[in-house]
Amino acid sequence: MRTRLLSVILVAALLIVFVAGTASAASKFELIYYDGHMHTLFSDGSGTVGEIVETAKSRGLDAVIITDHCKSLTLGEWNSLVALTAAESDSTFLALPGFEVTGSDGMFNRDHINALGVDDPFVGDDESELCPEEIWESPPNPLGTGAVYPEHLAKWVDYIHSKGGIAVHNHPSGTTTLTYGVNNLEVYNQSHVDDVTSYARMLGYSPQEAWEFGMLLNNLAIYGEVDELNMLMPNPFLGYPGLPQDPYLPMRDILYYATYGFSGVGQWLGAPQAPLTSWDELLMAYVNGTVDTPIFGLANSDAHNTGSPDSNVGIAKNGAYVKKLSAKELYKAIKAGRTFATTGPSLALDVNGELMGDTAYILDGSASINLSVNSESPTAILVKINIIKNGEVLQTISPLSSTYEDTLADEVTEDGYYRVEVTGVDIATGGYSFAWSNPVFVDIP
Ligand SMILES: [Zn+2]
Ligand SMILES: [Zn+2]
Repeated sequence: MRTRLLSVILVAALLIVFVAGTASAASKFELIYYDGHMHTLFSDGSGTVGEIVETAKSRGLDAVIITDHCKSLTLGEWNSLVALTAAESDSTFLALPGFEVTGSDGMFNRDHINALGVDDPFVGDDESELCPEEIWESPPNPLGTGAVYPEHLAKWVDYIHSKGGIAVHNHPSGTTTLTYGVNNLEVYNQSHVDDVTSYARMLGYSPQEAWEFGMLLNNLAIYGEVDELNMLMPNPFLGYPGLPQDPYLPMRDILYYATYGFSGVGQWLGAPQAPLTSWDELLMAYVNGTVDTPIFGLANSDAHNTGSPDSNVGIAKNGAYVKKLSAKELYKAIKAGRTFATTGPSLALDVNGELMGDTAYILDGSASINLSVNSESPTAILVKINIIKNGEVLQTISPLSSTYEDTLADEVTEDGYYRVEVTGVDIATGGYSFAWSNPVFVDIP
């Protein structure tokens, strides 16, 4: 009797520990959504702060960060942006001023870096209105890959950090290098996908091919040159003298000829042999101790059509786990990687109770990966969940339902990380949505 009572108590105690262990990870936080990259009439956007906030609220966002191009701003306009965003913020919604440092402006590999949480875009004397990219220039680089002066991008980031801000490499097409020192990488940029898609349409691709082309280019931010660049695509140059006439060409060659042989504009990838740096490689550099801080991923709309009620604001966004809705807490979550990138689904991920951005110290050789996902739409189902371990797919799950929740046990034999990629499909429209988590690191002490 006594033994039985004891075992009941023991089981109950274990259950409490277990439930507390799994629930505590995310329960300390509130899930909010923000879109952190967009433009107003102060630079090359079509809308006002008020129009952005109206659209953002209608799309269920809790916060926006407005990031006009610094070099388009006067001091007066910056002060207006600060005042207008403050006026739109209260306990239920945050509008925050940021700015985009805008260097080389090729169609791909643009040297653009967003500054979040910086209260002064102008270096030195504000009256001279000099932006970081005007002091440390980044000219186009038609003959190579990446920035002509990579050290100048590092100077922009140093300036942002010196003001207590966060530096995000925007629409990078996988060209981020560790030397820039950015905190975050825009692994998905809605405007970039839209631009590439329309460019591919101009080259003669079908709408479906053009969309896939846009997604492939965008995915270079994540996968670098792993597979996509060698994928065969229909040759858009058939009939053009002096260009290859094979029916299919590797994507890498198409990018090369589209820039230098065909259109002559932009700075695509430099040359077919040019290397790219993917997000996973950057994360592994942290795991291997090459850098002290990881580069976390995020998704943004980069909306320019902000004056339109059906603008891109909030089409791509981030779920952020925050203690409360405040600028300080949001920036803390972005910097800590306690966010996931999404165009729809939500997710919660922890490894042994450690949230995204954190490190789980593995003492017994095993990791418990706790994942829950919701399609966040009555008409969408989750078709694929990839668990990524150290840049490789560890497991693929096909829930074919609107929610998924499970715990996966995995053996840990070396330091690394886990992150997840979710794909959803809308049954009504056939449209795809995704959610990509930030990594949880594992460390064998
Ligand atoms: Zn940009
Ligand atoms: Zn932008």
